[in-house]
Amino acid sequence: MTFKALLATKSEGQVSASIVDLQEQDLMPGDVTVRVEYSTVNYKDALAISGRAEVIRQFPLIAGIDFAGVVEASQHPGIAVGDRVLANGRGLSQTHHGGFAQKARVNGDWLVKIPEVFSTQDAMAIGTAGYTAMLSVLALEHGGITPARGDVLVTGANGGVGSIAIAILSGLGYRVVASTGRIDEHEYLTGLGAAQIIDRRTLSEKGAPIAPEKWAGAVDSVGSHTLANVLAQTQYRGVVTACGLAQGLDLPGSVLPFILRNVTLAGIDSVNAPREARLQAWSRLASDLDLGKLARTTQVVGLAEVPAVAGRIFEGKVRGRVVVDVNA
Ligand code: NDP
Repeated sequence: MTFKALLATKSEGQVSASIVDLQEQDLMPGDVTVRVEYSTVNYKDALAISGRAEVIRQFPLIAGIDFAGVVEASQHPGIAVGDRVLANGRGLSQTHHGGFAQKARVNGDWLVKIPEVFSTQDAMAIGTAGYTAMLSVLALEHGGITPARGDVLVTGANGGVGSIAIAILSGLGYRVVASTGRIDEHEYLTGLGAAQIIDRRTLSEKGAPIAPEKWAGAVDSVGSHTLANVLAQTQYRGVVTACGLAQGLDLPGSVLPFILRNVTLAGIDSVNAPREARLQAWSRLASDLDLGKLARTTQVVGLAEVPAVAGRIFEGKVRGRVVVDVNA
């Protein structure tokens, strides 16, 4: 029995990805085998299969940092045949075969049971981007940011992390300001719950080390000057979360927001987040994310379309979340 997979290979320094037929014996060791139903294309997947960043550490490797599906075989305590499970990050698409395939075999510790309210497709509509958005919201809460404290800014608003962060935060009662380079998408953003939309160009150039206070909190997936300016504009004792580098991986700011305003910069990592943090994030997604809004962020493609979607991500043409139906 063969299954289809998007296999990344490297030749003369060039990374490419193509669909191949593999057999179960080609899978890597693990105590749970999953019949994958859906995966998703994140920014990191685009980096991986384009070779723009060294996400994949060994070739050939099945790409895809997420998957959701049904357990086919398990020797892992607590995980049974027929369970609906998902995986985000860990070694997927780095050192272990990933989710762009009809089958996956992993260590059961990497798996989270999909909350009842979500289908396997919903789980991947959320995917790493949405789970990272939830980790960011949890960090704001941990820092004491409540709706009463004031506006929360979300940068990279049309992206995966940004879209889901807006939906969660607005559902929790925050007044959300969305920063975007695609002002023409205002209907989409207000539909997700953004109360105000600002042009990302107001944040993307070098700014003052400290600036008038605007944000009680912020969810940033952009980095670089944007993150430095957001920090400079954050209110006394505000919290800014940083998970991404869509503008750049530099942080050209000053310490003034920290030492004058007691601002907290909270780093967010989804890949190696401890199990308790993952379970908490998925449980909060189940209670706090509106499924109607999630559906609005989502489009579904087949496995063969993944490389083209990755290209569109770098052109800034992908809105929200792209789910991959691995059986289409
Ligand atoms: P997307 O590609 O879906 O979204 C990124 C968004 O950033 C774009 O839609 C765009 O929003 C904005 N953007 C793109 N280029 C620029 C630029 N040059 N300057 C300013 N804004 C820009 O990516 P994801 O949401 O999936 O991921 C966002 C970031 O977060 C990535 O860097 C990714 O690697 C990182 N990430 C990190 C994780 C972690 O564990 N730390 C987990 C998940 C993601 P708009 O058009 O609205 O301006």
